[in-house]
Amino acid sequence: MDMLLTDEQKEIQKAARKFAQNEFPPLAEELDREERFPLELWKKACQLGFVGPWIEEQYGGPGLGVMEAVLITEEFWRVDPGCSTILAGAFGSQMIQLYGTEEQKRACLPPLAAGEKISGAAITEPNAGSDVAGVRTRAVEEGDEFVINGTKMFITNGTIADFFVVLCQTEPEAEKRHSRFSVLLVEADRPGLTRRKIRNKLGIRASDTAELIFEDVRVPKENLVGDRGRGFYQFMHFFDVTRIPVAAQGLGLAQGALDRALRYAREREVFGSSLASFQATQFKLAEMATMVEAVRGLVRQAAWKLDHGEVDTRLIAMAKWLAGQVAVRAADEALQIHGGYGFIGEYDISRFYRDAKIVEIYEGTKEVEKLIVARHLLKG
Ligand SMILES: Cc1cc2nc3c(=O)[nH]c(=O)nc-3n(C[C@H](O)[C@H](O)[C@H](O)COP(=O)(O)OP(=O)(O)OC[C@H]3O[C@@H](n4cnc5c(N)ncnc54)[C@H](O)[C@@H]3O)c2cc1C
Repeated sequence: MDMLLTDEQKEIQKAARKFAQNEFPPLAEELDREERFPLELWKKACQLGFVGPWIEEQYGGPGLGVMEAVLITEEFWRVDPGCSTILAGAFGSQMIQLYGTEEQKRACLPPLAAGEKISGAAITEPNAGSDVAGVRTRAVEEGDEFVINGTKMFITNGTIADFFVVLCQTEPEAEKRHSRFSVLLVEADRPGLTRRKIRNKLGIRASDTAELIFEDVRVPKENLVGDRGRGFYQFMHFFDVTRIPVAAQGLGLAQGALDRALRYAREREVFGSSLASFQATQFKLAEMATMVEAVRGLVRQAAWKLDHGEVDTRLIAMAKWLAGQVAVRAADEALQIHGGYGFIGEYDISRFYRDAKIVEIYEGTKEVEKLIVARHLLKG
């Protein structure tokens, strides 16, 4: 697959691999245990252009494509998924880049690219996850402001972000359910915004996850991102862009699980021979490698299309679904190959096993991805 990459893309891939291999291993276990986002590491990664690589040059970013974001993500997640969540430091910036005003882009994007600020995207609520149009957070117009009330759930970078793009109901009377929403930019220091860190997650524990409570939070009308009543559609477009790197997370994790399974199977002796000499082990490794290659093909095809102006929602959903499934299976098989030592946490495969599950949940659960694929099939 790598032969289809340009020389520049191969250089980016190499640089990302080197960065992750040098920086992540000494920190990974501690960050997971302490449930701590590594601010210093994130800053370093920003300075090298790994965070928000899509941010255009005129706004201080590297101005790269989705393919480059995919390559960086894969290399990072292959080494350690928890540390790799530094890449989410600019989550939400895609909405500003796609729909923001010139003023919003100038204010928000350069500090994200420079590693001075962190962003987040707040869509999910306690009672509205997969059903995005079920969002209840209200933003009521009052003079020159919107006044926001509601609760957002599971928000990445929730307690560390400087600002969020927030999906709110602004047109509750609109006849069409999907036309009731708008996106607002909300700075984290606005009075009335309370942030509560969610602890004890199954995996990606270095990632900061929080509940956001909005109580009469006021933002000026200029904080509207895009058009009134178009927020739902804007976020669907946003997910088409962001789901491909999330699929690359699953791809990297599965590749990392395979690397570890191969290493251990060669080292471990059972019944007087190496574990790798038994066909049952070889079949596991062969299946993992084949699934990883299949996902890599789908992810890169989806990225290539997007970089060439084609939003193939069906393909993106296929890539995201398969990547989650392969990540979970590969981590499971790799842990199995490690036997009891995998289970007691002697090797980092136990962390991969816990981290894998998130790829089947956030940015659209596996069921939602399959619904999207089916909808396109039946429509066609
Ligand atoms: C660590 C973490 C980080 C996150 N980060 C963010 C973030 O930054 N911003 C944000 O807005 N959200 C974030 N989320 C939220 C995430 O996107 C949601 O958890 C996800 O979309 C699922 O929503 P839910 O949890 O409400 O599950 P529900 O929607 O309640 O679904 C529960 C189950 O029912 C299934 N289901 C739902 N509808 C159907 C259907 N029609 N047919 C069949 N099955 C169905 C689902 O697939 C799922 O298995 C994050 C979540 C986690 C865990």
